[in-house]
Amino acid sequence: MFSASPPTPVATREGNAIRFRAMPVPRRLAVPVGGFGSADAVEIKPPGTVVGRGEALAENMPQAMAAPIAPADGRVVGEGPAHASADHRLRAVLIDCDPAVDVPREDSSTTPEMIDAMLRRLRGMDIGAGIDVLRSRGVWANRWTSPDLLAQFHASLRRPVDTVVCNVLDEDVALPLQARVAAAYGMEVTAGVLALAALTKARRAWAAVAYYADPACWDSLRRSSAKNDLHLVALRNDYPRAHPTLLLHELADRALRPDRLPTEQGVLLLDTAAAAAVGRCFLRDEPMLTVPMAVRDRSLNKTHYLEVPVGAAYSDVLSDLGLRADRIDLRAGNPLREQHVAASCIATGGELTLTLLTPAVAVNPDPCIRCAWCVEGCPVHIQPAGLLEAAQQDDPYMAHQYGLEACVECGICSFVCPSHLPILAGIRALRSKHAKKR
Ligand code: SF4
Ligand code: SF4
Repeated sequence: MFSASPPTPVATREGNAIRFRAMPVPRRLAVPVGGFGSADAVEIKPPGTVVGRGEALAENMPQAMAAPIAPADGRVVGEGPAHASADHRLRAVLIDCDPAVDVPREDSSTTPEMIDAMLRRLRGMDIGAGIDVLRSRGVWANRWTSPDLLAQFHASLRRPVDTVVCNVLDEDVALPLQARVAAAYGMEVTAGVLALAALTKARRAWAAVAYYADPACWDSLRRSSAKNDLHLVALRNDYPRAHPTLLLHELADRALRPDRLPTEQGVLLLDTAAAAAVGRCFLRDEPMLTVPMAVRDRSLNKTHYLEVPVGAAYSDVLSDLGLRADRIDLRAGNPLREQHVAASCIATGGELTLTLLTPAVAVNPDPCIRCAWCVEGCPVHIQPAGLLEAAQQDDPYMAHQYGLEACVECGICSFVCPSHLPILAGIRALRSKHAKKR
C-alpha cells in the first residue's frame, strides 16, 4: 500500500537545470489527428495552404478528436496515414517546414500565483468546455503510462471521478522520462493535474512518484505542490508497476481491467508528459507542438532526452542524434513489451520512449518443461503457459480460464521462459483474433 511520506532527498539539483534539448524541425512533418473514433469527417486544409506555427491544420473536428496543430511555420502538402505505433494508424496532415528552426518553449516562468489564477478560472468552467480547450490546442495522449486522455475526460461526463492521478512512475527505470519531465517542468505538471481535478470536481489530486526517483524530480514536485492540493505519494517502482491496472491497485485498492479506462474506477490517470501539456494549455493557451522523448542506445549504453516536434518521424529523431535507423531492433516502451516499431512511426501522443537494440538471432523454441517460471514472474498471477496453449489451440474458453482478461502484456513471461516460448506473441494473437470476431 502507499506511503504518504515521501523520502528525504539525498541530493538536490535545480529542477530547471534538467533540460530537454529542442530537436530542430525536420523538413517534413506528419501531424496526426489525435484522439479516438473516426477522423473521416475531418476537413484537412488543402495542399498549398501556408500555415503558421500553432495554427489548426483541419476543421470540422469530431468531439472526441484533437485538432492537428502546425508545430512550425510551413505549407500543407497533402495528407496521409501515419503510425503512432505498429498497430495505431492515424490520419495525418503532411506539412513542409523550414528545417532551420526550433520549436521554442517558455515554461520556466510559471509561478504558484499563475496556477492559482488558472484554478480560479477553471472552477467556473464545465467539463465539456474544458475538453474543447484541450481538443482545440491539439492536446491528447494514449500510451501505456497514460490511457486515452480525451476518452477518459469524456467518460468523466457520465461517471464522476473522485481522484486525478499523475503517473510519475517510469515503465523502464533505465529510461526515466516521466521523472525527468517532472524535474524539468514540475510547475506545468502540477498545474495540469490540478486543472483536471478542478474541471472534474475530483476531491483528490495525487502524484505517484517512485521512492528512488531522481532527487531532482522529488525537489521539483515538492516545490510546485508546496502551496496547493497536489499530494505526493511514494511507491515502489518495479516493472510493470507503472501500468494503470497495477498502479490503481497499489494506490487506491481499485480493480481495473487492463482493457478498461481508469475512469471506470473513478480515477482520471495521466502521466507527467500529458499533465505538462494540459498545464501549458490551461496556463498559457499553449498548443501541444512538441513531445518529450527519451531514446536509449543499448549498445552504447547512452540515453538522450529531447523535445521532438509533433509529427516528426522516428527516423528524423535518430538522425538528429547521429544514430542509424537501419539494422536495429527499435522498440517503444519497456523492451520486454516487445513493441517493435518502424523508423517511419511518428512522435505524437503515443509512446515516448525508444530503445535501440541489436537484432537478436532467432532461436527455435523448445517444448514447455513445466518449470512455472512464467507463473512466478507474472505480476497479475495468471497462467501464462496455459494462455500459450490456449493460443495454440485457438480456444477462447481455455484462455478465459487461464486469466487472459487480466494480462497487462508486460512480456515478463516470455522473457523468463527457458524454452524461449513466444508467450506474449500468443496472447496478442489470441486477443486480436477474438477482438475482431466480437
Ligand atoms: S504478459 Fe505474461 S507475465 Fe505479463 S501479465 Fe501477461 S501473462 Fe502475466
Ligand atoms: S516458463 Fe516456459 S517452459 Fe516454464 S512453464 Fe512457463 S512456458 Fe513452460
